[in-house]
Amino acid sequence: MGSIGNHNKPHAVCIPYPAQGHINPMLKLAKILNHKGFHITFVNNEYNHRRLLKSRGPDSLKGLPSFQFETIPDGLPPCDADSTQDIAALCESTTKTCLGPFKELLAKLNDTCSSNVPPVSCIISDGCMSFTLAAAQELGIPEVFFWTPSACGLLGYMHYHELAKKGYFPLKDASDLTNGYLETALDWIPGMKDIRLRDLPSFLRSTNPDDFLFNYLIQETNRSKSVSAIVINTFDPLEKEVLESLQTLLPPVYTIGPLHFLVKHIEDKNLERLGSNLWKEDPKSVEWLDSKKPNSVVYVNFGSITVMTANQLVEFAWGLANSQIQFLWIIRPDIVSGEEAILPPEFVEETKERGMLTSWCPQEQVLSHPAIGGFLTHSGWNSTLESIGNGVPMICWPFFAEQQTNCWFKCTQWGIGMEIDNNVKRDEVESLVRELIVGEKGKDMKKKAMEWKKLTEEAAAKPTGSSYVNIDKLINEILLKH
Ligand code: UDP
Repeated sequence: MGSIGNHNKPHAVCIPYPAQGHINPMLKLAKILNHKGFHITFVNNEYNHRRLLKSRGPDSLKGLPSFQFETIPDGLPPCDADSTQDIAALCESTTKTCLGPFKELLAKLNDTCSSNVPPVSCIISDGCMSFTLAAAQELGIPEVFFWTPSACGLLGYMHYHELAKKGYFPLKDASDLTNGYLETALDWIPGMKDIRLRDLPSFLRSTNPDDFLFNYLIQETNRSKSVSAIVINTFDPLEKEVLESLQTLLPPVYTIGPLHFLVKHIEDKNLERLGSNLWKEDPKSVEWLDSKKPNSVVYVNFGSITVMTANQLVEFAWGLANSQIQFLWIIRPDIVSGEEAILPPEFVEETKERGMLTSWCPQEQVLSHPAIGGFLTHSGWNSTLESIGNGVPMICWPFFAEQQTNCWFKCTQWGIGMEIDNNVKRDEVESLVRELIVGEKGKDMKKKAMEWKKLTEEAAAKPTGSSYVNIDKLINEILLKH
């Protein structure tokens, strides 16, 4: 398809939910589709567009003749900060205000007088941007929802309605958060038998029946039932039973992950230039790793949204220091809610020979570095997949959303994770970090992680692999059926 003239190309409009963990995989999928012959319009919100220009320079957003960037406002008040926007406010605002600007953009792209791009032939929308479905229906074109969390996370969200119906949601009162109620195990969700309430996506931990995010996820998953297809950034062997369960609840589900593997096969310098990191990457983090022995460093990163208290930051710091293990710790400037992230000067002094601190790194490169022996992570899905794809075992400190579910699967089903208590204490950090890098359990987890790495490669690094094949199926069975 690469030789089709630009005007005859199919045209996919890709619209991610405007947060880092959603933009990254959507950009990868867009690159793959472009490589397979699609004209791409990639839609960022204005806030992230500005941040991308700042972090990556204008070149990364200049686009190509067949891959262009557009923006729409997200409806939130303008803001100059360089931090993640409030997730609940952003969900509410996109849901209420974005359909109009999105339809205007589609009309502009389809205007034969002024537009020099092919007519829009399909929409790939984040599952959390379900307002886009109305626009696709109006144009009579296929719409695919890309759910960027794990399949197990999505399955959890798909059961929110049932949890409310059965009386598990809302919580009676705040004491349910601490009195053992969340330990209740459920045996009625096919694909995740014996999962506890506390392992399900965290928005159910509310005493408010009108809790916005809980109800929002019910709305978004419900609309998923009306799209042409669902795509998930996972691979079949990893989430087999969960996927079987999802297939009974949704339109056709295509597993196309890990996308960071599939995208590696595209050798196109122009596409490589298009990046999506909202923070400026520090290349010194990788250089620092070059001088370290294989499997000797613990990598610590809590992603783009997690926040913690100043006290939790200090507990992590002393836990790492006391473990005596070398570490690469990425501390986002906004990681402590409402305050500057300040580390004790004694900690910085004591660990200066064996610790590297910085505020953002090229994570995929870091995780593929041989020096990395383990990952202390919040368990976001992209981080989890990037770790699995590199055979790196994890310590999990889930923050919110489906990170709790990812953590349960890693610790109890996949054999590659150990959970750290939410009320983090330095002694636990110290012992788990030591266990991860030099302990027996760490060795077992490493072995298991390497087995998953092999399965990842089989699914996504070979043209016969399931994810590789599913991309072509998605194109032929859905995206070109218009
Ligand atoms: N990331 C990165 N550098 C960092 C931290 C994160 O490149 O220092 C990337 C990471 O590779 C992943 C994404 O940001 O692709 C974070 O997504 P994830 O789903 O793990 O967590 P979220 O940020 O959504 O909580």
